[in-house]
Amino acid sequence: MNNSKVRVRFAPSPTGPLHMGGVRTALFNYLFAKKHGGDFILRIEDTDQTRFVPGAEEYIVESLNWCGLNPVEGPGTGGEFGPYRQSERKEIYKKYAGQLVESGWAYIAFDTPEEIDSLRKEAEEKKETFSYGIGTRESLNNSLKLSEEEVQKKIEAGENYVIRFKMPEDLDVTEDDIIRGQVTFNTTKSLDDKVLFKSDGMPTYHLANVVDDHLMKITHVIRGEEWLPSMPLHVLLYRALGWEETKPRFAHLPLILKPVGKGKLSKRDGDKMGFPVFPLKWTDPETGETFHGYREDGYFPEAFINLLALLGWNPGTEQEFFSLEELSEMFSLERVVKSGSRFDPEKAKWFNKHYFQQKTTPELAELFKPILKEKGVEAAGEKIERVVTEVKERCEFVSDLWEQGHYFFTAPTSFDEKTVKKRWKEDTPEKLLAIAELFKSIENWDTESIKESFSSFLNEKEWGFGVVMNPLRLCLVGGNMGPDLFAICEILGKEETISRIKSAIKAISN
Ligand code: GLU
Repeated sequence: MNNSKVRVRFAPSPTGPLHMGGVRTALFNYLFAKKHGGDFILRIEDTDQTRFVPGAEEYIVESLNWCGLNPVEGPGTGGEFGPYRQSERKEIYKKYAGQLVESGWAYIAFDTPEEIDSLRKEAEEKKETFSYGIGTRESLNNSLKLSEEEVQKKIEAGENYVIRFKMPEDLDVTEDDIIRGQVTFNTTKSLDDKVLFKSDGMPTYHLANVVDDHLMKITHVIRGEEWLPSMPLHVLLYRALGWEETKPRFAHLPLILKPVGKGKLSKRDGDKMGFPVFPLKWTDPETGETFHGYREDGYFPEAFINLLALLGWNPGTEQEFFSLEELSEMFSLERVVKSGSRFDPEKAKWFNKHYFQQKTTPELAELFKPILKEKGVEAAGEKIERVVTEVKERCEFVSDLWEQGHYFFTAPTSFDEKTVKKRWKEDTPEKLLAIAELFKSIENWDTESIKESFSSFLNEKEWGFGVVMNPLRLCLVGGNMGPDLFAICEILGKEETISRIKSAIKAISN
C-alpha cells in the first residue's frame, strides 16, 4: 500500500434505485474516509448502456444527501479527477485497452454473440459449460489465432470486435482482503477471459473500474461481497497496466440477509414483509411499479444510518445508538465481520422510536404540521405542541402522532363498540350530563382544577371513579385510549369538552 491520503469511492451503476445494501456500502466508505481524514468520492459507473435507467443517478444522489453522506468529489460536485461519470470518460479507457493488447495482456476477438451462444448450447448438450478462455481461446475467432493482417483486414472491413483479457495459465492470485484475510484464486480453475472493451466503444465494468480507481488515486476499494470474484482479475489488471505499486487495498463487505430464511435481502422481501428496502420511494419508470422508501415511510435518516452501521460492523461494546459523527470516529474495517448479517425490521422501528423520542417537542410539532394540513386540520402551534407532549411517548413515527392524537383535532364520529357495551349503562347519560354541568361551572380550565372539581364532585355523589371516567373518555376520544383524561379535557377546551359529551350521548343512546 502507498502512504498517500485515504481516498475511497462509492461507485454505483445507475441501473435502478439504490438498495439499502448499497447505502451501507456508501456509509462504510464514508466512515472510513472520515476516520482517516480522507476523501469520499462518488463515481457513476454507467458504461452498460443496456441497463441504464432514467432517474437512477438522481435517485442515488438524493439518497446519499438524505443520509448526510455527501461526497467531496462527484458528478454534481466536481473535483480535480473528473469527470465522475464513466460514460464521459470513454476515450480514456480505449487507450488502456489498446495498451493491454499491445503488451500481450489482452487480445481482439471477433466472435459474434450468436457464435458464442451456439458454443454455449453445444456445451450444455454435453453437460459441460462453455467458457471463453484458457483451453478454448486458441480455437476461436480472435487475434491469438488469426494473423496480424487478417485482424487488420477485419477491423478495416468494419467487423465488430471486443477486447478480452488474456488470463495467464495456472497462476495462483493471492490478495489480502482487509475483512476476509488472504484470498487465493487459481486462474485456470476459476477465471475466464473477461471482455474488457465492448464493440459499442464502451469499456466493461472491470476495465473502467480499475482504470478509474488508479487515475482517481483510490487507496481502498470497499464494496459488496458480490464483487469478491472480480478481485483476482482486478489485481491482474493492475499488474498488466504496470500499476501494482499503487494498487488499492480491498475490503469486501458481508451480505445483508433476509429477516427469515436463507439468502440475500431482496426488494421482494420488503413487499412481502412490509418494510422498505430502498432509502427513498421509487417508481419504476417502465412499469410504474412503486417501492416503499425509508424516508417516505417516516424513518429518520439518523435511524436508518444507525441500523445500517450495525449490519456487518460492531463496536465491540454493548453500545447500540450511534450518530454519524460518533461512527466516523469509531469505525474500523477490522471490526467488520465476514459472515452475512440478518436484517431485522422490528429493530429498524426500534431505532426510529429512539430517534423520535430524542426530538424536542417543537421539532416534532413542526414535523406533524404537514400531516395535520393534509387532514384538513387547522390548529394553533401551541395546541399542536401540547398534543405532541401528551402522546409522543406512545409513538415510533411522526405519523403515529395522528394515530395517537387525532381526537384532539377532530371530534369522534364513531364510538368503540366494545367499550360502549362494557361501560355504557342506563344511568350513564344522566351522570355525564351532571358532569357537563359541573364543567360549566369550573373557572380555571386547567388539568389540576378540572381534576379537583371532578374528584370532589364524585366523592360527594359517592359515584365510583371508573363509572364516570370510562364513559367520559369514550365521549371525548371515541374509545378507551389516550393520555390523562383531565389533560385531554384541558387541551380540548371547556366548550368542546361539553359539546362532545352531549353529542356522544345523542349518538350512543340512539
Ligand atoms: N459499479 C459497481 C456496482 O454497481 C461497483 C463495484 C465496485 O465498487 O467496484 O456495485
